[in-house]
Amino acid sequence: MLWIRNGIVIDPKNKIKAEKMDIFVKNGKIVPEGEVRREECRVIDASGKLVVAGGVDMHAHIAGSKINTGRTMRPEEMRVVRNVAGKFRAAVGRVLLTAPAIGYEYAKMGYTTSFEAAQPPIGALHTHEELDAIPMIDKAALPVFGNWHLVFKCIEEKNLEKLKALIAWAIERSKGFGVKVVNPGGVEAWMYGGNVKSLDDQVPGFNVTPREIITMLIKANEELGLPHSVHLHCNNLGVPGNFQTTIESIKLAKGFSNSKRQVLHVTHVQFNAYAGSSWRDAASGAAEIAKVVNSMDNVTIDMGQPIFGHATAMTGDAPFQFTLHKLTGARWSNKDTEVETGAGIVPLVYLPNNPVHALQWAIGLELGLLVDSNKVALTTDYPNGGPFTEYPYVMAMLMSRKMREGELSKVNAYVQKATGLASIDVEKTLYEIINMTRSLPARILGLQNKGHLGIGADADIAIYNLNPLETDTSKDFEKVYKAFKSAEYTIKSGEIISRNGEIVKEVFGRTFWVDARKKVDMEAVMNDIRDYFQYYSVQLGNYGVEERWIKKPERLEVV
Ligand SMILES: [Zn+2]
Repeated sequence: MLWIRNGIVIDPKNKIKAEKMDIFVKNGKIVPEGEVRREECRVIDASGKLVVAGGVDMHAHIAGSKINTGRTMRPEEMRVVRNVAGKFRAAVGRVLLTAPAIGYEYAKMGYTTSFEAAQPPIGALHTHEELDAIPMIDKAALPVFGNWHLVFKCIEEKNLEKLKALIAWAIERSKGFGVKVVNPGGVEAWMYGGNVKSLDDQVPGFNVTPREIITMLIKANEELGLPHSVHLHCNNLGVPGNFQTTIESIKLAKGFSNSKRQVLHVTHVQFNAYAGSSWRDAASGAAEIAKVVNSMDNVTIDMGQPIFGHATAMTGDAPFQFTLHKLTGARWSNKDTEVETGAGIVPLVYLPNNPVHALQWAIGLELGLLVDSNKVALTTDYPNGGPFTEYPYVMAMLMSRKMREGELSKVNAYVQKATGLASIDVEKTLYEIINMTRSLPARILGLQNKGHLGIGADADIAIYNLNPLETDTSKDFEKVYKAFKSAEYTIKSGEIISRNGEIVKEVFGRTFWVDARKKVDMEAVMNDIRDYFQYYSVQLGNYGVEERWIKKPERLEVV
């Protein structure tokens, strides 16, 4: 039992704006005062400290074959070794951290949940083995659907029931959480060396278009009633002029509604927010995208903020990765994942002096500033935009125009004419930033017990050495950055796991997965699935992950 005393609580989900409060914890949950005996509680004096829910990273690449391939491709990473508290496992890496380091670094920052954002279903066992090796946090994985031959078949046949059954089957088999879509149709086109360029291009070999893929997957996702919405990585990622495709894709959500959450989440929008016709005249399309997102109440986005320094692009968007490799001359690896999807990996460095990198950096911030704080979550699309360990930098930048002015003076001047960043005077409040890193991502994912400190919530709590009543976040950005970099306390399911940036206890969190089998007639798709296994390298009976193989599975049943 824990009694967190006199902290200053910010809890956007429960509309608590910097109020002095006590929080009580029992059996890993937040409970009313009456449920604990004060004299039996361990007391944490949080006087003058900020108390918030543990951070929720709704989109990162933390497990599976692509991060492993990325590690292999970056031997220079193996430089930083952490032997935490002298008794935990060695944890290595700067950007592509090893599995233990991922857990430790999240915990040090006060983050307690992270979602792996792209899991090829056939590779699910590997993903789960790696997720199981990440300590400290709760986690889940999103299987990819946007280039799967069987998905295309259901869409060609306009057979919604079959598509719903396929989704329920695949999510159960891969012990996944929702429906991720990466460059719909484009990765299949890449199998023939091409890509799709508009929402109405036909996918080679199939009578379907990206527009049909996205629309029908939203329809199936909503009829299934999954906790999370369709999670879309748009077409034309990384291509100048792509902001138009992004806006068109966002508008596909029109006509769908859900009282609890968005019906479409568009991810790492920075990479899809470019105006212009080539990298010579590329400019920001962030303001136009922000206008559209702000005008719709059923769409959310996340930033995909680049951080100067090392990063590694890794995405299921195989054709984009080839383009990136050609542009940068950096190392490149490609993978075709049987009939399901593909991926590519390119290690890179974002340089402040490079006009394209500076433009990307500015666009990410523009999105974070211009989009309503209830619709944009903070991400770097780790490790595509950079390490998640720099979230505090992004948080501080969004709250301080002064900090942005200082940083702007250090980057390529191209940013001044190609973006509106310098003239944006928005300064997000601490309340908004706590929302963008806690309550909002939890709501987007459909995690009811995460991202807030209300009764019944998981006791995932961060305490920062920052007094919201005395701190001017607009001026004290260095203090803000420092406070968020290393939480004074990180509490996971009621246990203190990190103190002042030092890991004090290793714990293993749960892996959430969604079971929607009761919502479908599985027989609608089983014949097709059996038929398709003639194209797979494994037999149907060997495909998938059993719940008992996962360290701490938690099934969320959709009924
Ligand atoms: Zn991603």
